[in-house]
Amino acid sequence: MIDRYPLRLPGDFDGEVLTRDQAGYDSARRPVGSAGAARRPLVVLRCRSVRDVAAALGYARDTGIALAVRGGGHCFAGRSSTDGILIDVSGLRGVDLSDDGTVTVGAGVRLGQLYGALHSRGRTLPAGCGATVGVAGLVLGGGIGLLGRLHGLTCDRLVAATVVLADGSVIDCDEHRDPELFWALRGAGGGQFGVVTSLRLATVTEPLTARVVLTCLDGDPARVVASWQASAPDAPDDISTALELTGEPGRGVRVVVSGIAVDAARAGAWLRDLARDSGAGARLSVADPVPFTLAKWASADPRQDVGDGRLRSEYFARPLPPDVVTDLLALLTSGDAGHHRRLTFTPMGGAYNRVGPADTAFVHRRERYLLEHVGHRGDPWVDASWTLAHPHSSHRVYPNFPDPLLDRPADAYWGTNHARLAVVKQSYDPQHLFGFPQSL
Ligand SMILES: Cc1cc2nc3c(=O)[nH]c(=O)nc-3n(C[C@H](O)[C@H](O)[C@H](O)COP(=O)(O)OP(=O)(O)OC[C@H]3O[C@@H](n4cnc5c(N)ncnc54)[C@H](O)[C@@H]3O)c2cc1C
Repeated sequence: MIDRYPLRLPGDFDGEVLTRDQAGYDSARRPVGSAGAARRPLVVLRCRSVRDVAAALGYARDTGIALAVRGGGHCFAGRSSTDGILIDVSGLRGVDLSDDGTVTVGAGVRLGQLYGALHSRGRTLPAGCGATVGVAGLVLGGGIGLLGRLHGLTCDRLVAATVVLADGSVIDCDEHRDPELFWALRGAGGGQFGVVTSLRLATVTEPLTARVVLTCLDGDPARVVASWQASAPDAPDDISTALELTGEPGRGVRVVVSGIAVDAARAGAWLRDLARDSGAGARLSVADPVPFTLAKWASADPRQDVGDGRLRSEYFARPLPPDVVTDLLALLTSGDAGHHRRLTFTPMGGAYNRVGPADTAFVHRRERYLLEHVGHRGDPWVDASWTLAHPHSSHRVYPNFPDPLLDRPADAYWGTNHARLAVVKQSYDPQHLFGFPQSL
C-alpha cells in the first residue's frame, strides 16, 4: 500500500523513515506494553526536529492515511500504535534547565532522564514512577506521582508548550498565547490537538524524603483498607502512601502501605496509628531521608507488572462500604490458580485538589483516591473486580489510564470540561487529523 503513497516528505526531513521491509522496523513499531502491539504501521517516521514533525503531519494530511503520535509508547489503550503513519517523537531529547527554575523538555524525553538531569542540579518535579514513561505523554494526561499531594500534578507545573498543529503551523502556547489550547493540553492533550514538541515546566527544590513501608503481617485486611481510606487522602501533604493488596487464588492477601514522606518521624507515627486502628500486626520500616530521586528509585515501579496484563481503574470520592471491601478481598483470591492480581489505592487530596476542576482540563479535583485493578490479560477477575467497585466510584477515569470498555468515556475522562474541550478540538483540529477510539 505504501507504493500507492510514495513518501513525499520534504528534503529537509532529517529523521528516520522505516517501512515494513526495513531492518529496525519491528523494534521501531512496537509499543512498550501489549496494547497495540499487533499494529503494523505503513511507515514509522522518527522525527528529530520540529520541522520533521511538520513534514510528517504534511504527509499524513496529503495522503489521508491515519496517524498516531508516540512519545514513550506506554499507552495502556494502544493509542500510540497504528496501521498507518506512526509519528515517533522520541528523537526530541533535549533537557534545558534555566536559572529561573523552569526546565524545557523535548517531547522524546523519558522520566528517568529528566529526574536524573534535575537531581544533578538539586531540582525535581512532581511526576510519575516509570523511568521509561514519556514526559510528554505523562504531562498531557495529568501526571500522578509521589510528590503530587505536596506539589500537584505534573501538568500543574506546565508553563508553556510548543505545538505543531494539524495544518503544520508551529505555535508556542501559554497562559496568554492560545490560552484555550494551553488549558486543554493540561490533562486532555495526549494525541488530541497537535504534536507537542517541547514543554516548559516549573521545577521545585528537590526535597529530602524518607521511604516508608508498612507490611501488614496479620489482622484483617478489610480493616487496613478502611483505615487507609479514612486517613491517607487527608494525611499531611508530604505523606504519600499507596495501599497495595496483592493476591493469588488459593493464597492469602498481601497488604503493604508504602510511599515517601518529608517528615519521617511524623510519617512513622502516622503509619503506626494506621496499623493500630486496623488491628494489624505490622512491620514498619522508615528509611533515612535522602534526596527524593534516590528514595523514589529505591522502590519497584508498581505498574511495571502491567506488561502483558490489564489495568482498569476509577476515581473514588468516598470510602468503599465495608461489605464491598470484603467482597473485593474474597474475589482477589478466588478462581483459577496461577493468576497474580493487584489492587492499588493511590491517595489524592492535598495539592491535587487545591486546583479547581475547570482551572485546567484535568477535571478530577474532588477525588479522594484512585483504585487500580491489575491482572493478567486473560483473567476475568479484572472486569469482575472493577464491576464490583464501580457503583461506589465517581464514574471518573484518569485520562492516562484509558479504558476501552467505558460506557460513557467523555464523561469519565472530562466530566464538566467536555463541552469546552470539544470547542478547543473544533478550533485547532477541525478536520480531526488527530483521532483514536474515545478521542474528542
Ligand atoms: C510502567 C508504567 C508506569 C506508569 N507510571 C505512571 C505514574 O507513576 N503516574 C502517572 O500519572 N502515569 C503513569 N503511567 C501512565 C502514563 O502516564 C501514560 O501511559 C502516558 O500516557 C505514557 O506516555 P508515553 O509517552 O510513554 O506513551 P505514548 O503511548 O507514547 O503516548 C501516550 C498518549 O499521549 C500521546 N502523546 C505522546 N506524546 C505526544 C506528543 N508529543 N504530543 C501529543 N501527544 C502525544 C500519544 O498519542 C498517546 O495518546 C505509567 C504507565 C506505565 C506503562
